[in-house]
Amino acid sequence: EGIDIESFIKRYIETFSIKYHDFKISLEIEPDVDHFYADPVMLGSVFQNLIENAYKYSHPQKKVLAIKAYRDKKNVIFTFTDQGIGIPKAELGNIFKKFYRLENQYNQNGSVGLGLAFCKELVNFMDGDIVVKSKVNHGSEFIVILPYQT
Ligand code: ATP
Ligand code: MG
Repeated sequence: EGIDIESFIKRYIETFSIKYHDFKISLEIEPDVDHFYADPVMLGSVFQNLIENAYKYSHPQKKVLAIKAYRDKKNVIFTFTDQGIGIPKAELGNIFKKFYRLENQYNQNGSVGLGLAFCKELVNFMDGDIVVKSKVNHGSEFIVILPYQT
């Protein structure tokens, strides 16, 4: 049985749409990604942090996030693609470190720089990985790769 991926992600999207009215989130799930064995709290924490970051680090008129889920032979892959401020190449290796934050115009009080470190811990704990591609002023893509257990 496991988690019904579509309804699971949709619940987070709904929550964020209520919290942030100007946030446009699209979802695309390949048909072969349906049920997935994972701890819902862990998986949910990963999704929540990535969705929150996509909102925080995007310009006011461009709060856009595309979420996709697909499979390869062994894994399920989730991508979170925003059109935000992006991350400088030299910092891509740093952002998953605990308490590491970048100086930018969207730094907020109360953020501690643990979100991505926690995501990485959780994903590694689930025998997966998380990677990022980004271009300054264009946006970022966070890719979560988890072994598909049926
Ligand atoms: P917290 O998540 O603990 O509230 P945070 O968002 O600053 O604080 P992380 O989520 O770990 O911490 O992110 C680390 C840094 O990486 C952020 O300070 C931000 O500069 C950068 N970052 C994270 N996600 C994005 C994104 N989608 N676009 C641009 N920069 C990002
Ligand atoms: Mg964060």
